[in-house]
Amino acid sequence: MKRRQFIGLFGASSLGLLLPALARGETLVSKVPSDTGTTGSVVVVGGGMAGATVAKFLRLWGGSNVKVTLVDLNASYSSNIMSNLVLNGSTTMSQLTYNYNNLKTLYGINFVQGRVDSIVPPVGSGTGFVRLADGRVLTCNKIILAPGIEFDAVPGLTPALQDSYVTHAWKAGAQTTKLASQIRNMPAGGTFVMTIPAAPYRCPPGPYERACVVADYLKKNKPGSKVIVLDANPFIQAERVGFERAFNVTHAGVIDYRPSQTVAGVTVNTTGGKHAVTTNTTMLYADVLNVIPSHKAGKIITDNPALANASGGRWAGVDVRSYESTGVPNVYVIGDSAASGQPKAGHIANQEAKLCADAVVRALRGDFIPNPAPKTNSACYSPITADTASWLTVVYGYDAVNNKMVAVPGAGPIEAAAATQDNFNDMKKWFATLMADSFA
Ligand SMILES: Cc1cc2nc3c(=O)[nH]c(=O)nc-3n(C[C@H](O)[C@H](O)[C@H](O)COP(=O)(O)OP(=O)(O)OC[C@H]3O[C@@H](n4cnc5c(N)ncnc54)[C@H](O)[C@@H]3O)c2cc1C
Repeated sequence: MKRRQFIGLFGASSLGLLLPALARGETLVSKVPSDTGTTGSVVVVGGGMAGATVAKFLRLWGGSNVKVTLVDLNASYSSNIMSNLVLNGSTTMSQLTYNYNNLKTLYGINFVQGRVDSIVPPVGSGTGFVRLADGRVLTCNKIILAPGIEFDAVPGLTPALQDSYVTHAWKAGAQTTKLASQIRNMPAGGTFVMTIPAAPYRCPPGPYERACVVADYLKKNKPGSKVIVLDANPFIQAERVGFERAFNVTHAGVIDYRPSQTVAGVTVNTTGGKHAVTTNTTMLYADVLNVIPSHKAGKIITDNPALANASGGRWAGVDVRSYESTGVPNVYVIGDSAASGQPKAGHIANQEAKLCADAVVRALRGDFIPNPAPKTNSACYSPITADTASWLTVVYGYDAVNNKMVAVPGAGPIEAAAATQDNFNDMKKWFATLMADSFA
């Protein structure tokens, strides 16, 4: 495309965003087909791993007559994936930040920044409404909810105390950077205590990965320090063989893993001293305390009992052949908020988004027939030290009796035989590919 034509199409105001790509000699042509015979409008709530992907693939597969609006609280997305590597200084949150420019310019997605407060689902082929906290109202034929997770309250902790003293750092961002600086400022011989909530929580291997990355950093920089892991679960929830090896061999003498520990409360020290955490069996003091609270679906879902119809109102029940809510027609739920039988993971969120985009495009076209055998794959890499990683992979298939996804016999879970540097290098490629598939 010639530059003149390009300015005509996109207008001068968006040019600043695109000049770097032009300078690299790249051709910027919209990737959206003009007419696929499908017409309609979709609002996607949440621009994370699930929401960004579904917005992109709705346009790619639906074409230019499928209008897509993507709403997120923030102007850019902070990746949770790889965020444990901020804790040892290997990367920074700004390196893990993704903007929505490609989705806007290459895929013609209408991005709106704001908090969605409530929805009115479309009835039949009618109009639905998505209301923002600032009073704006968006209209559409289908609504897709991808708000990630919310946390349960922890006795003794408020959101302000979590931001400043006892972080979760489980929604990557300022708390991740805060936790990294707390670790950097720990005394040699200090104690880092972290707590893991009862499953299901996002990224089953993630907390164990965090324990390893922090232990590796402390061994090298704060000799004599300990990492105490208080797990609400009775055993390691993912890559059990690999993490037992990491805890008992690679980081022996540093990581102290304690299962079946439920947090009862926290006492925050705001004057620089140690914090205290109480569990069902013990009380511990910590120089740095990292409490990851138990999870539930996003508020937009738990506020609506018809949507939050799984696990006693905590998660959204979905038909995993389309990700349509089992409680509210024309509303779809993907990513961590959905109860789908699959792990709450970014890779899975990406795959759910594609199955959902396909189903929504077909529904708008009027020829939706449930996919009789959906399949997804989850691959997950976990850093064990600053330059080695392990991995885990599973293929999921459709269990028609229980309408959920289950691990396909013989196709996982399969985990790496050892944590290696090759795996660490593969992890970087896997991450770049996944993020490009969602945001580029
Ligand atoms: C430390 C850590 C490491 C991880 N590592 C991996 C890994 O190696 N591999 C892997 O596959 N997964 C990993 N994960 C899990 C992965 O990050 C999540 O499973 C994934 O992000 C879920 O995608 P999602 O779209 O459901 O939620 P998110 O990615 O959290 O996106 C939700 C979005 O919704 C927006 N939102 C919420 N409510 C509203 C509202 N009312 N209005 C507007 N916007 C709203 C939020 O701002 C957010 O941008 C990791 C997680 C953590 C914490």
